[in-house]
Amino acid sequence: MKEVSFIIHKPIICLLIDSLMDAPLQEEIQAGRAPTLQFLRDNGTYYPRVVSPFPTMSVSIDSSMLTGKPPNQHGIYGLTYYHQKQKRVYNFGTGPKEIFLFGVKRVLRAGMLELNQKLLHKDVKTLHEETDEPTASINAMIYRGKNHTKLRAPWIAWLTGLLPRKIEASVPTYFSYGSMHTIDKRSHPKNMLTQFGVNDHFSSMEIISLIKQDKLPRLSLVYFPGNDIIVHKKGTSEGKGIKKTDDVLSPILDAFGSWEEAIQKCNFVVLGDSGQTNMVKTDTYIDLRKILHPYAIMPLSRDTPQPEDQLITCVNERMSYIYILDEQISYQDVVRLCKVEKKLDVIAWQEEDGWIHVVSGQTDGALSFRANGEYHDEFDQKWQLEGDISILDLTLDEQTIQYGMYPDALSRLSGALDPKSRSVIVTVSPGYELVGQGSPKHKGASHGSLHHLDSLVPMIVTGIQQPPENLRIIDLKKWFLGLLEE
Ligand SMILES: [Zn+2]
Repeated sequence: MKEVSFIIHKPIICLLIDSLMDAPLQEEIQAGRAPTLQFLRDNGTYYPRVVSPFPTMSVSIDSSMLTGKPPNQHGIYGLTYYHQKQKRVYNFGTGPKEIFLFGVKRVLRAGMLELNQKLLHKDVKTLHEETDEPTASINAMIYRGKNHTKLRAPWIAWLTGLLPRKIEASVPTYFSYGSMHTIDKRSHPKNMLTQFGVNDHFSSMEIISLIKQDKLPRLSLVYFPGNDIIVHKKGTSEGKGIKKTDDVLSPILDAFGSWEEAIQKCNFVVLGDSGQTNMVKTDTYIDLRKILHPYAIMPLSRDTPQPEDQLITCVNERMSYIYILDEQISYQDVVRLCKVEKKLDVIAWQEEDGWIHVVSGQTDGALSFRANGEYHDEFDQKWQLEGDISILDLTLDEQTIQYGMYPDALSRLSGALDPKSRSVIVTVSPGYELVGQGSPKHKGASHGSLHHLDSLVPMIVTGIQQPPENLRIIDLKKWFLGLLEE
């Protein structure tokens, strides 16, 4: 006889804290400066090492988290990348100088009119699109859902002609994106000085409003962007960002009546998106224009490449794409120049035959790999390997691949490559940041690379017994869907 069970589905609130890392989180908890996070950790399970997708940049991480796919399937390769089919460089806002050179209008329009609407591939579904349950998205850059709505552009953007007044979008049941779309009109702040509501305090007020109105859907994804900015400025040991985030998290738990009631009524997932790596004090910035000096790199101000442009560089902090436009230039030509720079720890490209090749500026030798071979890794992925495995710090235990410095390196690298775009990926070793024309130069810390410092994030889970199959952000969609279907 079939057992009849009455399961009360607790809503899940996923709190995403930009650049949350294990060590500073532990430290802040130890010092008593993060009581809310401490309470959740003490009443839940703590996973200190969840692998982030590559490049370790928020917008591509969020895309992978929501779709369960790597960049070469969901289409969002980073904060800036070259779109092969459209022959256009996209930039969703890397830094003030680059935005200015690139054009404020192009940046705003890409992020507001195209990112969710066009660039995130239509043939992949987001978590919000795939479940029949209502969901909420608060201040997430990637939010595509099933309900059509219109966002209101900030007044200054439409008055100056940067954006249309109303923006068509498909969004989840409950959707909040700063002043552009709010759940509760009373939530604040959402003025020009506070990123028009894309800030921690506003995120907190919006989720509190759902709790107080008893409208919490089965799953809410709530973004807290503040910590990232502080870590970029001050470095990874600066815990102020975590404390500030904790300050806006405590009223969320309070909204249930008490913290005990909060974890009784609701399951929480607290998650970072990427780590960061501290910058050294001198010779911090590795300029790709110097490395690639024999070739003409397309200027930022240009919309589409002209015949004289030989290369395009799209710098994502500690990683960069180098796209080869000129057919006279081979991968080897570009790789040879890159290899001279000792700080480039990973240089990778994919040939038409599917093989991915990796070399390094730090050591000789080369590694080639492709999917489906006799070796397998901890994530149950199979690989064919040839050459020097130490290039990616791999070790072999018979047929089993162990990752070292670069977690899940094989799958993460291949997910960011696409032979059709003729791209070379470079990453820079810890302590350094890559720059091109107008790139931001972070003083404290930075991310983007494949290195574990940029790639491992902590996760706290309360109330949910079943852990995700793999501790990778890319696998969380499947986990959430499973929990929603229970
Ligand atoms: Zn960042």
